[in-house]
Amino acid sequence: MAETKGMSKHSLQKMPLFTMALLCFWPFASFLNSNQDDALIYGTQILAYGLALLITSGALLWGMCICLGRRSMSAVAHIIGVGCVCFFLYLPLSNLLAHLGVSLGVLRLLAWLFITLCVLVGIWIMSQRSGTAAVLLAVSLAMFVGPVIGLSYFTYSGFLKGDGEMDRAARAGKVSAALPNVYWVILDAYPRADILHDHFGVDNSEFIMALRNREFTVSDRSMANFASTKLSLSTTASMEYYLPDNGQLHPTMWTARLQGFNAVVEKFQSLGYRYVHAEPGGSNLKTRCGGMEHKCIRAEPVGSIGINEAEANLLRLTPLFPVIRRMAPGFLSFDFTSVADLSAQLEYSGSTPTFLFAHLLTPHPPQRFDKDCGRNVPVSFDLDGEDYSKVVDAFINDLRCLNPLIIGLIDEILTRDLSDPYIIIQSDHGFRGVLPETGVREMDVAPHLVAFANLSAIKLPQTCAQSIKDGFSLINTFRIVLACIEDKEPRLLPNRYFSTSKGRLKEVHLE
Ligand SMILES: [Zn+2]
Repeated sequence: MAETKGMSKHSLQKMPLFTMALLCFWPFASFLNSNQDDALIYGTQILAYGLALLITSGALLWGMCICLGRRSMSAVAHIIGVGCVCFFLYLPLSNLLAHLGVSLGVLRLLAWLFITLCVLVGIWIMSQRSGTAAVLLAVSLAMFVGPVIGLSYFTYSGFLKGDGEMDRAARAGKVSAALPNVYWVILDAYPRADILHDHFGVDNSEFIMALRNREFTVSDRSMANFASTKLSLSTTASMEYYLPDNGQLHPTMWTARLQGFNAVVEKFQSLGYRYVHAEPGGSNLKTRCGGMEHKCIRAEPVGSIGINEAEANLLRLTPLFPVIRRMAPGFLSFDFTSVADLSAQLEYSGSTPTFLFAHLLTPHPPQRFDKDCGRNVPVSFDLDGEDYSKVVDAFINDLRCLNPLIIGLIDEILTRDLSDPYIIIQSDHGFRGVLPETGVREMDVAPHLVAFANLSAIKLPQTCAQSIKDGFSLINTFRIVLACIEDKEPRLLPNRYFSTSKGRLKEVHLE
């Protein structure tokens, strides 16, 4: 009996420790649950940060117990746990206050500080009462219900879907002695010329002419098969519509493909090519280097500390983000790979043919150039991923600054690469978001299809370029390029277009 009583007292003492651990880890579990699409990419990193915060909290508890005495342990553990949660709730609170009309950032920061202090004082007082430990533990466990169910379902459905056997379109064929280097450069969200003209009043014909003068086939009516980076690039790199028409989509279907584990890279490797992968930046974004590559090209850091998308999103939840941005704007930076980074790290001619896949997150926001086309430092942390309508001026400015750099890169390749290279300059999709009002009456492309209208400029030998017909869509890019290398007739797929709705594909018909 005495033993039972002793044990229960012992477990009672441990309750605040469990509560603290749960509360300090909760922001990370909740973050992963809310960002399931990217959980496969940066999940381990977020868990490592969670573990680091747990260790720090434990050390803090130990230090404070030495100062205040063991009797305060339960109150201190509760304060640390609740403090962790409040720390990561800055963004929701700040957004709520902004919604209520508090526009001054400093006021929102002070409000967060005041509310947090009130909550912590309340917890301190409540911790003196018996029963509080059990209530707080129950609340902490309840907070985990959502993330545990969400992440378990995500893992379970991913296990069922898997990536399966990747399409083995790659089959070694006839290989000629001297193979051309192949450069595939994706300029994320670069719109088609007619869209720029009709909807933005921008005349991009100088750039298009410069490409045509260098023997590029520029498709005036090119379309992406998806208006989504992940789905578009993974499908182009798979050379087939591999996503299920009616099934639920899951990130396991594209995560590996975007990092080089795809039919195009396999085929190039089977032909004896080296694979060079240029990541867009942040070292953790969707198309980061995955290990298939012989060489990984990364951005040159611009701030004191380069952080990635996951870290920026996590930091954004806390009051540290606005404080650092105000006090030391150059301290943190998103390091995006630029055209200059690319040309500095490319090896143009070697004994082994090279296939480059470069995904540059430009002209996609955030703005990378100032008005004079100098490098914009510091770069904003807002990716504006789905809707660029609030940053149209910056978007057009970046496009204007990007054009001569792309032509410069092409000229450098054409001068220094002696393999008679194939060069593919494309975007994964076009402009996304609400279109600006224009004076043009008749639009060729319906507004809901504008996001599909992408840039496609391909430099191939004349005979192969004939396969690029008027109605070109990205799916056939490498069917044409690889057939050209192997001196075969390309087997083209029909053009199909898809949007997503509730996690499933929905076919879009142009007519
Ligand atoms: Zn994109």
